[in-house]
Amino acid sequence: MEPGSLPTTADQYAAALKRMRADVRCPSCSREGWLPGGQAGVPIEEHGGQKVVVHVAVCDFCGFVRQHTPAHLTRPN
Ligand SMILES: [Zn+2]
Repeated sequence: MEPGSLPTTADQYAAALKRMRADVRCPSCSREGWLPGGQAGVPIEEHGGQKVVVHVAVCDFCGFVRQHTPAHLTRPN
């Protein structure tokens, strides 16, 4: 994976979580297996609907969805 690029595989995503010292386990089912998806914009009401860009991943076991900012997923330690 190129430095600064978003994870596209489950292994790359797990590595990005570990770099952030985030828990790799799913908060819903406690298993480890994230399928990285793409980016989405989440509208923030307090900012007039202005969107914060997030990267979305789905738990391969229970479907729980987690989000992190692309900047956090791609930054080195
Ligand atoms: Zn899960």
